[in-house]
Amino acid sequence: MRIDPGVPGPVIVWLRNDLRLADNPALKAAIDTGRPVIPLYILDETPGVRAMGAASLWWLDKSLRALSDSFKAIGSKLMLRRGPAQEILKDVIVHAGAAGVVWNRLYEPAAIARDAEIKAALKADGVVVESCLAGLLNEPWTVQNGSKQPYKVFTPYWRAARAHLTHVEVERAPKHLQAPEHWPHSDALDGWNLHPRKPDWSKGFSIWTPGEAGALERLDDFLSGAVDGYGEGRDVPGLEATSRLSPHLHFGEIGPRQVWAAARTAAEAGDAPHGEIEKFLSEVGWREFNHSILFHWPQMPKRNFRPEFDAFPWAENPKGFEAWIEGRTGYPLVDAGMRELWATGFMHNRVRMITASFLIKHLLVDWRDGEAWFWDTLVDADLANNVGNWQWVAGSGADASPYFRIFNPIGQGEKFDPKGAYVRKWVPELANLPDSAIHQPWTAPAHLSVEAKRSYARPIVDHGRARARALEAYRHLRGNA
Ligand code: FAD
Repeated sequence: MRIDPGVPGPVIVWLRNDLRLADNPALKAAIDTGRPVIPLYILDETPGVRAMGAASLWWLDKSLRALSDSFKAIGSKLMLRRGPAQEILKDVIVHAGAAGVVWNRLYEPAAIARDAEIKAALKADGVVVESCLAGLLNEPWTVQNGSKQPYKVFTPYWRAARAHLTHVEVERAPKHLQAPEHWPHSDALDGWNLHPRKPDWSKGFSIWTPGEAGALERLDDFLSGAVDGYGEGRDVPGLEATSRLSPHLHFGEIGPRQVWAAARTAAEAGDAPHGEIEKFLSEVGWREFNHSILFHWPQMPKRNFRPEFDAFPWAENPKGFEAWIEGRTGYPLVDAGMRELWATGFMHNRVRMITASFLIKHLLVDWRDGEAWFWDTLVDADLANNVGNWQWVAGSGADASPYFRIFNPIGQGEKFDPKGAYVRKWVPELANLPDSAIHQPWTAPAHLSVEAKRSYARPIVDHGRARARALEAYRHLRGNA
């Protein structure tokens, strides 16, 4: 960033979903000015920007603690403030006498609008402002088809996106950061009360290590272990065969370029078969694709990508919705998923598809209601990915699964959790059922299912009838198209 040498003052790095020191272009740009650097995180309260859900706030709390320690270790501090971002930035600039502000770009529509407004306001005040690419492999506007239009289909999108990524080098974390003479005021993190109390529902979240070190360790573990076999293993919810990097990626504790570079290095070193690593990278590609779609179709969080779905006859089904969120639909795989989500802030990808499909198609509940629940309960809640995937399941999204492909929760269980390892873990009242009945407990012989019959719900809808009703609703939609 270019700041007139005659203008004194430090540079503010406004940290958002880039809570890391390594390969952080905004931080590097600030350091490269040779000026003191003020790292600042704002718990933003700008109207219109979607507030984080409870599970995300849990994560943020730990991630900010880790980041704060990292800044201390290099002679600096992380400043914390809460309120509308523009107001806070102006206040910190005045108090610190800052000459410039730099941040890494975000791609959600409300964040884009906020950032553009802030950029214009600060520039008008004579403050130098710069923004950088950190959260994605490619800027959404750089991957276009032959007609200079954004892609709507994943496969050609990813082919084109990959072509931009011939050589990716990542920056190491800085070893020292020049501190300003005077630090501006910072809130105390404890005062933000991000960790749930009364009740503290987060006991099961102890599986996570938020922060940059935790992210790098996950990536290392994955690339030296589960990536070998990822192609098949990723569909088996009873295995831990995926990277579980999604919350780390969302909060930017690790960047996609770092993931890409490490995976390519592992491939070149022959640590895992090429095809497995490519499959893993293509999932990272779906993350890119969803961000690109949200960037180009900013109405996605509220509106169907395919407008014909606007006529879908959603049902009012509060009882069904409640049974779904509480994991007592009577379908073991659906209930296991919803309980895993509540207990850990995470749900296996295949089970996300099955639970989402169940809500939309078996219960005919609007995908937006499910998206809102996931938003509140997932530690990796991410607007582009959550909305993109809910619309994918609903059939209303870009390159979506066709609506009429209705997941059968029993068949999916028998295929991907044949011994019921996943169901037994999350639905312990079914633990003693034989494999043959684990996905349809109502078929178990009476003497084996006493406990299950006593404490486990009967299916709230019959699969066959629900399927027929869902297809009927779809016919209605097509009739209206
Ligand atoms: P891995 O299999 O190890 O994949 C590596 C990375 O690729 C992930 O960390 C993630 O960043 C990305 N990725 C993988 N699958 C997808 C996908 N289908 N779409 C986009 N990116 C993907 N993912 C989120 O990050 N946030 C969400 O809010 C979210 N909501 C979802 C809602 C529904 C209904 C569904 C079906 C999927 C959702 N996903 C979401 C996508 C996916 O389930 C998670 O990214 C994945 O389970 C994370 O586990 P992992 O890190 O072990 O993935």
